Amino acid sequence: MFENLQDKLNKAIKTLKGQGRITEINVAATIKEVRRALTDADVNYKVAKDITDRIRDKALDRKVLISVEPGQLFVKIVQEELTELMGGEAQNINIKGDPAIILIAGLQGSGKTTFSGKLASYLKKQGRNVLLVAADIYRPAAIDQLKVLGEQVGVEVYAEPENKNAVQIAQNAIALARKTGKKIVIVDTAGRLAVDEAMMQEIEALKRAIAPSETLFVVDSMTGQDAVNTAKTFNERLNFDGVVLTKLDGDARGGAALSIKTVVNKPIKFISTGEKMEALDVFYPDRMASRILG
Ligand code: GDP
Repeated sequence: MFENLQDKLNKAIKTLKGQGRITEINVAATIKEVRRALTDADVNYKVAKDITDRIRDKALDRKVLISVEPGQLFVKIVQEELTELMGGEAQNINIKGDPAIILIAGLQGSGKTTFSGKLASYLKKQGRNVLLVAADIYRPAAIDQLKVLGEQVGVEVYAEPENKNAVQIAQNAIALARKTGKKIVIVDTAGRLAVDEAMMQEIEALKRAIAPSETLFVVDSMTGQDAVNTAKTFNERLNFDGVVLTKLDGDARGGAALSIKTVVNKPIKFISTGEKMEALDVFYPDRMASRILG
């Protein structure tokens, strides 16, 4: 994960290591390299500029206060700023209502169905009684896929293969959950290959009808700035609560992870790092920052 970024950042910071102290000149050179490492990683340009400006100011501000080696001081500052950039504290999902409803949105292929299965498994392990709902009315294969995942993790899957009304399917599922004592309903929705108006209207209507306590937007982190732009479009229409970044196991650059919180102003809540049901993690900005710095 993020190997290219890690490599370039470490090379940039190395130029400060072994230097006696931090000066305007050696910091300027390092900052330039850090900024390049970030833009090469497909971090949004303004985000890269703002964070490197802050790192420079902090480094120059603290240079006389702390008697540590400049490289170490600089790494600490970069770590702090990367953590802030990715949202600071880890953010929980909102589980409210009886049943609590979680709506899963995103483009086709982003990893929604896989994530729905993982989330169901994660919540089940916390002792919660979960129902998965297949509300993808366009891809019959998506229903089967969710059923397989449900079976794998031991969570019931609700589907109506003949029904082409996603709102109805979700409402029927919620009614069933109430009747059978399920406490959380996870609604996996249809995704198209690109953002289109019909899709947006459909998911907006679904959200209005079922009033989820948490709406999660799932996006493939390997798509970099496209991921950020898609997140922006979805957020304008859906006002979602959090982002799920998928396929981090294949993302050498990390641009989406580093830009999305600042550009969209919604926290990343989970990261997905593989196809297996266990490959799900709560997102901790500080741990990710440490990982990026190796
Ligand atoms: P959906 O169309 O949004 O429901 O996407 P799917 O859940 O069907 O996922 C699309 C493809 O990506 C499938 O082949 C998944 O196995 C794969 N996938 C999903 N999440 C991850 C992940 O975190 N890492 C990797 N490597 N593959 C993933």
